[in-house]
Amino acid sequence: MIIVLKPNQQKGQIEHFIQRLTDNYDVQVNTWVGTHSTVLGLIGDTTAIDDEYIAAQDVVESVRRVQEPYKKANRKFHPDDSVITLPGGQKIGGGGLALIAGPCSVESREQIIGVAKSVQKSGAQFLRGGAFKPRTSPYAFQGMKAEGLELLQEAKKETGLPIVTEIMSAEHLPLFEDVDIIQVGARNMQNFELLKRLGKLNKPILLKRGLANTIEELLMSAEYIMAEGNEQVILCERGIRTYETITRNTLDISAIPVLKRLSHLPVIVDPSHASGLNWLIEPLAIAAAAIGADGLIIEVHNDPSHALCDGAQSITPAQFDLLSQKVTKLSQMVATL
Ligand code: PEP
Ligand code: MN
Repeated sequence: MIIVLKPNQQKGQIEHFIQRLTDNYDVQVNTWVGTHSTVLGLIGDTTAIDDEYIAAQDVVESVRRVQEPYKKANRKFHPDDSVITLPGGQKIGGGGLALIAGPCSVESREQIIGVAKSVQKSGAQFLRGGAFKPRTSPYAFQGMKAEGLELLQEAKKETGLPIVTEIMSAEHLPLFEDVDIIQVGARNMQNFELLKRLGKLNKPILLKRGLANTIEELLMSAEYIMAEGNEQVILCERGIRTYETITRNTLDISAIPVLKRLSHLPVIVDPSHASGLNWLIEPLAIAAAAIGADGLIIEVHNDPSHALCDGAQSITPAQFDLLSQKVTKLSQMVATL
């Protein structure tokens, strides 16, 4: 339930009204304060609340029931865009195009530090690199695990770039203390126990859309994290499985404006996993920047043909440099439209 308050209400009156709501009903109240109005989002059992009674209160302008099952992720509860800000000042959301780049997997000290330095020079503000890898085959390279996380920290020390890396199990959480943004991969999007644990942290979570999940299911997974108290969620469209076989997945480009309409959370795009083809990364990245994505996460490898994972979709640092110039220019143009 959404309660819009009349403009210019005293702080004390608002607090008193919220107190009455929480005393009388089994609800949690989320308050969003805008320049012209204050919106209260009620979460919990609102069935006992009489809309007309609430609407008749002095401080209330209007009352609306929210049909969607996601509440904290819902734009109706938080009309402004949410912006994720890291301690170093890097931002995702609220304008601009955040660039996250790096190899699919950390493979060696030289590799991760080398790639980190080159993508930074080309404008990336975040370094990606998998240490725990969700591979379809148990015989494929599974990542460098704890050692990979240590190498990511070394790369961060060298460049200052915050680290984005995937978690596969809550058991590994102690190893992720110094990770700046924890990625939940497509295969874990509905690992609800993992999502609940991540909801107890105070750090951003990059939540990727599952291979065969709907937009609403993605938002419900974000809700799992937010319901536990962690509201720093970044949504990622990374392609979904369709009947098409030429591309690894199908980039659902319409998911970006749809998500931004339904939710206040930042939305980024992963053209690498969406396509599986290095030559498609640039056109898909351009499409994402043009349609209003808040950022891109792109696989960049120093030697794609020898990559231990996802070489066919990895671009070289030189290709990333060109791409970065194009999408940055484009997103600046889009902002002026
Ligand atoms: C990855 O980012 O390397 C990855 C495995 O992504 P996804 O979960 O989208 O497949
Ligand atoms: Mn990958």
